[in-house]
Amino acid sequence: MQQQMQQSFETNVDENLLLDCMRCGFCLPSCPTYLHTEQDEAQSPRGRIALMKAVRDGIVPFDASVEKSFDLCLGCRACEPACPAGVQYGALIEQTREAVQEVKHSSFLEKTTRTIVFNNLFVKQKNMEHAVSLLHFYQKTGMQKAVRKIGFLNLFPKHLKTMEASLPPVAKKIQPLKQVKTAAMKVAFFTGCLMDTLYKETNDKTVSLLQMLGVDVIIPDNQNCCGALHGHSGELKRGKQNLILNVELFDSDDYTYIVNNAGGCGAFLKEYEKHLHSDERYREKAIRFSKKTIDISSLLVKAGLLDYLATLPQQANQTLVTYQDSCHLRNVNKVFNEPRMILQALPNVHFKELQNAHTCCGSAGIYNLLQPALAGDILDAKMATIKALQPTVIVTANPGCLLQIQAGIHKAKLEVSMRATHIVDFIYNSIAKYSKIS
Ligand code: SF4
Ligand code: SF4
Repeated sequence: MQQQMQQSFETNVDENLLLDCMRCGFCLPSCPTYLHTEQDEAQSPRGRIALMKAVRDGIVPFDASVEKSFDLCLGCRACEPACPAGVQYGALIEQTREAVQEVKHSSFLEKTTRTIVFNNLFVKQKNMEHAVSLLHFYQKTGMQKAVRKIGFLNLFPKHLKTMEASLPPVAKKIQPLKQVKTAAMKVAFFTGCLMDTLYKETNDKTVSLLQMLGVDVIIPDNQNCCGALHGHSGELKRGKQNLILNVELFDSDDYTYIVNNAGGCGAFLKEYEKHLHSDERYREKAIRFSKKTIDISSLLVKAGLLDYLATLPQQANQTLVTYQDSCHLRNVNKVFNEPRMILQALPNVHFKELQNAHTCCGSAGIYNLLQPALAGDILDAKMATIKALQPTVIVTANPGCLLQIQAGIHKAKLEVSMRATHIVDFIYNSIAKYSKIS
């Protein structure tokens, strides 16, 4: 197995990317796993890159401690903006996980779970819709209340119980906002598999906000999961078909932008051009796709939302609001000003910056489910800064972060005084009070 693993690292992990690291250590203070493990070098970006190289060169055997080092990485990519050498750490950890996954002997349970998740749930949107309908059935029929009442959830690990309590309610039908501007812009909406099922209401509000500004929104049928979860879990080869189908589907001159409202998906969509670079058939299409990809806050600013907000009268009773960055939206797409500009311009908001808003909340895709102990520590630290600020609302821009912060609020028993919300929901709800519904 050692030889196979070394060969897999040679095939999958780009040596040139590894050699970019000059071992300066500037990235260490930005790494949550390094800081939360008493500055363990093996849990830092520099340490992980050294281990990747050592396994690739056959100097260090791939054992449980090496595997743990790679597994504990959040993939938050906070190390990238901190790196003066421009090391592409995100690509390296994805390649490493692919190398490990190809050789590692997994248990029957793990193999089955991976097949369900990566070959079914996050491949076919219909399967995701069925899964979420089951969840809604569970919520609507009173089964959720009964399950909670009899204490059935006590049979499961505590973190799963907390996550269950944080699931969003069944989506309600929304009222479209009245058009107030003519942005004269045509965009396509990448709806996202989780956002278009679990957070359908947020997607409807996204369309409504854009239409309010006069943006023409097209929603192409038969969209596929972006593939981020595959990429982050060493399953990119399995998920590549999703990327190909998406670049084919969205390859049109009809629209200027491809907008999304989930930080994690948006970062992955922005990197389609890297993932499909070696495939001549799709390279150009992927470049066009990534160039057009934009997050909802940036697009709302471009479409004139701030000008519109400036026309609204300030509200006397303002809500104390803060913003928790989505790591991928910030570290990969470099978007952090636009959400703050919008929140500060809303007439009902008193905005205060959260200390360390840029650091990961511990959600990181399904990291909080796979690594509950460290994810819990990271969330506790995040909640300590939130408690110090005492906001009424914590705004996020990614479904995973939203669930995680809601879990943190639930765990800290703070539901009476604070709530977490997606930025689109917050903007829509704030504006709906002013804009006469059409
Ligand atoms: S990843 Fe970048 S910042 Fe970190 S040690 Fe290597 S070169 Fe330095
Ligand atoms: S991606 Fe995040 S957790 Fe992983 S090494 Fe970089 S900073 Fe640390």
